[in-house]
Amino acid sequence: MQYKISSKKHSRKIHYDIDWLPSNKCGAICFSIDDVHPAKSSDYYEAGGDLDKGALGRLNWLLERHQKLQVTIFTAADWREISPKPTRKILASIPYIRDLFYLAKIWPKGTMQLDRHPEFVQYLKQLPRTEIAFHGLHHCHKGRNIPTEFQHQGYSEFKKILQEIISIFNKADIDFVPGICPPSWDAPPPLLDAMIDVDLSFIASARDIITPISKNAITNMSGMKGVSLIYPQLVHNNKLVHITSNFQHTCSIDRAVKIIENGGLLAIKAHIIKDACGIISYDGLDETYRNYLDLLFTTLEDRYGTSLWWTSIGNITKKILDD
Ligand SMILES: [Zn+2]
Repeated sequence: MQYKISSKKHSRKIHYDIDWLPSNKCGAICFSIDDVHPAKSSDYYEAGGDLDKGALGRLNWLLERHQKLQVTIFTAADWREISPKPTRKILASIPYIRDLFYLAKIWPKGTMQLDRHPEFVQYLKQLPRTEIAFHGLHHCHKGRNIPTEFQHQGYSEFKKILQEIISIFNKADIDFVPGICPPSWDAPPPLLDAMIDVDLSFIASARDIITPISKNAITNMSGMKGVSLIYPQLVHNNKLVHITSNFQHTCSIDRAVKIIENGGLLAIKAHIIKDACGIISYDGLDETYRNYLDLLFTTLEDRYGTSLWWTSIGNITKKILDD
């Protein structure tokens, strides 16, 4: 099936009819975590660097209790953001000039670069059923939208950024899966062009945890709009697989069940940081969210048994592109 969505601003063809779900499965579930990087609780905030004693320990606990669960960890190659909001308030109030500066303190280049944190990388690599993908190079930008790394850069600059990310992951000896969850969800078209040219295969841009679930529901919240809320699909001239995050801490178990009952992909999102300099993430992987996920996974295991496909973004992409 193919249909066209038209709006005043744009029209986009959506291809739903791709063979992504194994024929013996009624629906699928995947789980991903953003913002993972080597910062420890002795830094501004913990982002995985405390290993088993921190947020990654909570992930490990879930992986041990739910043996079919798979996870995609989205990691910045050289994380530099400290505060997601501007702290240089006067500078931030001056139009035009503010776009030329970082409006909060950032980590010096290389401080959090993955290949300089072998213990952290080793910990990620030994986690069971865990794949690692890209979440930007520095996870920061000049101007007011600090975490939105991909903004108005052109194709060439995006390509350079992607090549640098790949080079750092290779130096760190991380066997990544080929795709991006863009910081703050924004993936401008020249970034998508550059992704294709450096052989990346998936983009997880849209996050919509509000739109009611139905077969034809499309995204209308963060990131890419007008793509399927519950099915993986091909975007950007059918050259990239897109997967929408459609569930987080604040969603009900009913929403999860509805997605699966529609033969969809329940794509759960968490963020590794709960409190970044006073900015609180609703879906930060604290003990409360960990326990809610434990309850959700147990409920789904009991209800669907082997008919639910516990999978990952990388595996879904591979299945779509291999078929
Ligand atoms: Zn992020």
